[in-house]
Amino acid sequence: MSMDPELRDLYQTMILDHYKKPRHYGRPAGADREAEGVNPLCGDEIHVYAKLVNDRIEEIGFEGSGCAISTAAASLMTDAVKGLTTGEVEALIERFHDLVTGQSHESGSELGKLAVLAGVREFPARVKCATLAWHALRAALEGTGEPVSTE
Ligand code: ZN
Repeated sequence: MSMDPELRDLYQTMILDHYKKPRHYGRPAGADREAEGVNPLCGDEIHVYAKLVNDRIEEIGFEGSGCAISTAAASLMTDAVKGLTTGEVEALIERFHDLVTGQSHESGSELGKLAVLAGVREFPARVKCATLAWHALRAALEGTGEPVSTE
């Protein structure tokens, strides 16, 4: 599925904006969950922090370094999951994964701003960049404390 060039330009602009000005960067006060995600293929490292209150993400943050896609994806993720329950996050992870791997053609509005990453489906190597923060978040919420790797 090819993307409308105008939409592609808009998405590129939004991705660069999140890359240059990441939202929720840093460890939030009171964070009680965390996990590290690494994508050796690209060299991305994303550390995700969360504070859970009654099974709901009250605070979220991330640190790390990586390419524009992995950083923008982490920033967009923090915006999307703040205030959600762990069950809602799990459902969102599945839908986001389907979006970036091209298994879903649901409209962008369903996933909100996360849809700006839909273009990575045309670049399979970048899918791991886009999903890295989500893998780390899942590990953090499961409380394993184990680093996750895309490889
Ligand atoms: Zn990357």
